[in-house]
Amino acid sequence: MTRIRLHNTRTRRKEDFAPIDAKDVRMYVCGPTVYDRAHLGNARPVVVFDVLYRLLRHVYGVEHVTYVRNFTDVDDKINATALARKQAGAEGTLEQLVQARSDETIGWYLKDMDEVGAMRPNQMPRATEFIAQMIAMIEGLIAEGYAYEKEGHVLFRVREYNDYGKLSGRSVDDMIAGARVEVAPFKEDPMDFVLWKPSTDDLPGWDSPWGRGRPGWHIECSAMAHELLGDSFDIHGGGNDLMFPHHENEIAQSRCAHPEGEFAKVWLHNEMLQVEGKKMSKSLGNFFTVRDLLDKGVPGEVIRFVFLQTHYRKPMDWTSDKAKSAKDTLWNWRRMAQDVISSEVDPEVLEALADDLNTSKAVAVLHRLAKDGNAASLKASAQFLGLLTDELNWVHHLAPQSVLSQPILGRPTLQQFEKTKWEELLIGERAKAMATKDFKELDRLKALLLEAGVEVRMSKAGVELVPGPDFDAAKLESV
Ligand SMILES: [Zn+2]
Repeated sequence: MTRIRLHNTRTRRKEDFAPIDAKDVRMYVCGPTVYDRAHLGNARPVVVFDVLYRLLRHVYGVEHVTYVRNFTDVDDKINATALARKQAGAEGTLEQLVQARSDETIGWYLKDMDEVGAMRPNQMPRATEFIAQMIAMIEGLIAEGYAYEKEGHVLFRVREYNDYGKLSGRSVDDMIAGARVEVAPFKEDPMDFVLWKPSTDDLPGWDSPWGRGRPGWHIECSAMAHELLGDSFDIHGGGNDLMFPHHENEIAQSRCAHPEGEFAKVWLHNEMLQVEGKKMSKSLGNFFTVRDLLDKGVPGEVIRFVFLQTHYRKPMDWTSDKAKSAKDTLWNWRRMAQDVISSEVDPEVLEALADDLNTSKAVAVLHRLAKDGNAASLKASAQFLGLLTDELNWVHHLAPQSVLSQPILGRPTLQQFEKTKWEELLIGERAKAMATKDFKELDRLKALLLEAGVEVRMSKAGVELVPGPDFDAAKLESV
């Protein structure tokens, strides 16, 4: 059996991964807050943990891995969008509008993540479906003295949990000194964090022992992980921006509410994403969503491939140069692999992934396989990483007939590009030009083809047209 080693944030070491139960390997990853389209940075943990999910399924068996990723659908940003719609005259109660906004955003999210080749987790719970479990957990924490109620708020007493800060390696006092902890009159200590808060009439709320209100953000992951994965489970993942306070708070709540369990054994955190060397931000004008890129013609497979080139514990820099070269590489690989039956995954690819998800090394192996002309293994190995799959195929003139008949993403297919007709046209124009010494029309046609992403190869023997990675048949339709 492949030995998997993972870097555990909790111990700061790479460790052999030994599941609690090899017949039931359990992983929880913090999912999105569903108030808007996912930006490119949101897709990074999705791809990282998708690779881990595929690896675990390979090693332990498809039936023996459970992957849970939540949707945070209780959030003031969702409330604000719903309230704005209501004030603009939208029909329905505020709760209905909140739900409509979440439904819409979840639909976008799933579609966008499908397009970067991420398998859907086994369970995708929504916070609003687990309010009862959250309330029960909070009641337990109050009963044991770990939490207290004041003015309709319930707060967690951070100083009651001695290991607080261990995951991120901070002391409570350092955190207070450097942190943006909110001081509030209802808090015994500024570090205490909200488990439950009151809702006014224009906010969604649920009945609770502390009045009508809604949960704080952190409690949902603890409640859902416990309900779906138990007191102890194997892996907890997320971006390293979640380490503090979110993951520290999850640990504190869960360990105090269920002291018999260990909560998560291994913690994995991915580094953040930058764009052209800079932090992605709206003010810098380099903020974009996954959908923006897809709409600009960057295939989801290219996004995935660029991501995989950087190890998950290193900052990832998205550049348009990388996207361009990824597209060229994938184009070549797809051409190599198109009529090939895939063979075995190269053992070095597995080895690289088992070594703390070393995807950049795995990609280097793919390059070597391509260079050696080993198309069968290239195809199998790339597909193991979620690349060169039929689902992500964006090069439709390379696709087998079965796929051609159902164009994906509304892109034109080769059937719309009459290759032979164009080649004959060019041969005729060339003959004319040679006779009249007027090359204008021939040059015009060549420029058109180039513009549409078609390489024109003219020789004495004839004319060959080769659609390239940027081929767009629509550009030739009007001619
Ligand atoms: Zn979480």
